[in-house]
Amino acid sequence: MNIELKLGDITAIPVDAIVNAANTSLLGGGGVDGAIHRKGGHEIFEDCVVLSTQHGGCKVGEAVYTRAGKLPAQHVIHTVGPIWYGGVKNEEKLLKSCYIKALQVANKLGAKTVSFPNISTGVYRFPKEKAAQIALQSIKDYEEIIANAQTANSVSTVIFVCFEQVNYDIYKNLLGI
Ligand code: ADP
Repeated sequence: MNIELKLGDITAIPVDAIVNAANTSLLGGGGVDGAIHRKGGHEIFEDCVVLSTQHGGCKVGEAVYTRAGKLPAQHVIHTVGPIWYGGVKNEEKLLKSCYIKALQVANKLGAKTVSFPNISTGVYRFPKEKAAQIALQSIKDYEEIIANAQTANSVSTVIFVCFEQVNYDIYKNLLGI
């Protein structure tokens, strides 16, 4: 898979599937979740209400999907990152699970291009450098899972969209670009 890095607003970048850093209720929050719902409109919220009331929302480290409404995408994949408690609550594994499960959902949907925000690094306070390392390692782990299972993979491009310059610089450094 190709890895691309962009600085800016994830809702403005056309892709097949946009990943959202949601919360377990799926019923709205601030940050990137707020931006996705504002720009995407009522269809996303309607689907989230169904997922919330009939399926109990989304657990930390899991991923579900909805329509993308007015966003320049076919789908929104909602994943719930862990809140950082100092690393004693399995946060690293849970963050990795977010990326892998979101990619597995993207693959199930046949998405070729997938964009990710920097999950958990906002109000959930996950250390940014560690989060970026996990995000990049998760891409490799996903590729290995796919290869080992000899499963087809629709995802050809992953775009990390950083809203903050500090995250952009961390990714740039880790990717050596
Ligand atoms: P979390 O609760 O998982 O920490 P936040 O939405 O608070 O989620 O933050 C996750 C990341 O999303 C942060 O790095 C934040 O800067 C970033 N972010 C906020 N708005 C946008 C946006 N419109 N596009 C891309 N990233 C965004």
